[in-house]
Amino acid sequence: MQISKRIKSLSRSQTVEITNLARQLRQDGIDVISLSVGEPDFTTPKEVIDYASLMAEQGKTKYVATDGLPEFKQRIQEKMKRDNGLDYELNEIFVGAGAKQVLYNLFMALLDPGDEVVVPDPYWVSYTEQVKLAEGVPVIAHTTADTAYKLTPEILDEVVTEKTKILVLNSPNNPTGSVYTLEELQALADYLDDKDIMVIADEIYEVLVYDGEHISLASISETMKKNTIVINGVSKSHAMTGWRVGYACGDSEVISAITKLQSQLVSNVSTPAQYAAVRAYDMDHTFLEEYNQLFKKRRDNAYQKMVELPYVTCIKPEGAFYLFPYFKETAEKCGFNTVDDFVKAILSEKHVALVPGSAFGYPDNLRLSYAVDEDTLNEAMDRLKSFIKEKL
Ligand code: PLP
Repeated sequence: MQISKRIKSLSRSQTVEITNLARQLRQDGIDVISLSVGEPDFTTPKEVIDYASLMAEQGKTKYVATDGLPEFKQRIQEKMKRDNGLDYELNEIFVGAGAKQVLYNLFMALLDPGDEVVVPDPYWVSYTEQVKLAEGVPVIAHTTADTAYKLTPEILDEVVTEKTKILVLNSPNNPTGSVYTLEELQALADYLDDKDIMVIADEIYEVLVYDGEHISLASISETMKKNTIVINGVSKSHAMTGWRVGYACGDSEVISAITKLQSQLVSNVSTPAQYAAVRAYDMDHTFLEEYNQLFKKRRDNAYQKMVELPYVTCIKPEGAFYLFPYFKETAEKCGFNTVDDFVKAILSEKHVALVPGSAFGYPDNLRLSYAVDEDTLNEAMDRLKSFIKEKL
């Protein structure tokens, strides 16, 4: 059987692969600490689980509308108004099987072969692969630690061409933890104002901001609202990664196009999972405040320990749950040619799973997820420290 060229040329998600490898080692009885995961370490709030099972018991187990359960779309509408100051009609909202699937639908619906999509690096692994699947061309806008890995109009201007159709902007960012300020978003909005470029604003880590505040790009101006599709979901906000519920808000024509695609792909997102998401959005907001405080404490601890490691430099992340330190010099001083080799060695020798920056198009760094409890993080950082000490 010949597998298609499309799939042959597709890269596997390195973050998923490393997480699977760590899981496998653990099943084999090895005490692996995984700092490679992109999900909160605790389970979904009990009231969310209870509500979903109650709804299932009451027979809410049938197909529902392709673009999303009306009750959940209404909660999204209220949330966007309350938290982001954005008014969307119900036909401007679409629910998909996680933000990941919503993004896939968008690239499929918006790109013709050869259309360019600007993706700032370091980037979340799936953007570029999904663009390629849709026969688009990912164009990398290179950012550096000098701007805290944030895109500026100057960097953007270097890569925009007449073929640019989409810009992907992710704030709070995976893998860097950077959060765009109002001024930074304003500057990008000014640059984009007279351009025919659709922005996909991936705001999946919205609730995990520790310094400053999350501002939705779409809320900057009427033009930005028209030209932006906001992506969000419950995976990271309510520890609901396995339920697979994410959504998009934006132009009704685009929403209608991705709904048409969805009707041939998935029909609709799992009905009980959408009820679970309804409950998540109805929950008392103190949950989110406590959640945020917990991650802020973890961020502070992880960051402090990271910058104490020899030759490591790291921007202090303002959001999400990752550190993205520059590790090249440390890796080299420890006798490794690349950060990839360092990451492989520490997994096999000290059983700590990290993700090499190459997975994000940024090979001199690595990503550490601090979505783990304090003891686990401390133990991992001790292993990292002693590994480096032994090798230096
Ligand atoms: N966008 C970013 C930046 C992510 O890091 C992730 C998950 O890791 C997603 C989207 C996908 O989220 P979901 O679980 O809703 O598909």
